[in-house]
Amino acid sequence: MLKLFGEIIGNLRRKPVTIDVPFEKVEVEELYRGLEFLDLDKCIGCGACALDCPAAAIEMVEFKEVNRKLPVFIIGRCVFCAQCEDTCPYDAIKMTKEVPRPFFPFEEERMRIEPKELRPLEKRPQPKPLPPPPPAKR
Ligand code: SF4
Ligand code: SF4
Repeated sequence: MLKLFGEIIGNLRRKPVTIDVPFEKVEVEELYRGLEFLDLDKCIGCGACALDCPAAAIEMVEFKEVNRKLPVFIIGRCVFCAQCEDTCPYDAIKMTKEVPRPFFPFEEERMRIEPKELRPLEKRPQPKPLPPPPPAKR
């Protein structure tokens, strides 16, 4: 009985081994793949990422602010395979180390990453002009 009592007191003094997500930061491995980041200055809305996603976790949604479709990531379906990052021909998707918050099965469809800070195409940074070609050799 005394031994059991000692164990209870010992356990009460110990720090919890669990992490209080999302209030505490989770340390992840170097190769961990977390939430997707969409670079709006690079994405042209071609939809290739949505076509290639094996989990049907990308929906192309029309955004009036930019007058075109952009990918919305349905985190509840995502398997974090990074296929979208590989597929994007414009290097617009990056897998971050951000850990998604835990969610209930009924929330699956609601767990989405929508594009933020939407800017019309003409207000996006313009690519630098290419240097002039070298003179032709004769
Ligand atoms: S993220 Fe890349 S592949 Fe997906 S719509 Fe934008 S440009 Fe196309
Ligand atoms: S990481 Fe994989 S499952 Fe998730 S959105 Fe990208 S392609 Fe789809």
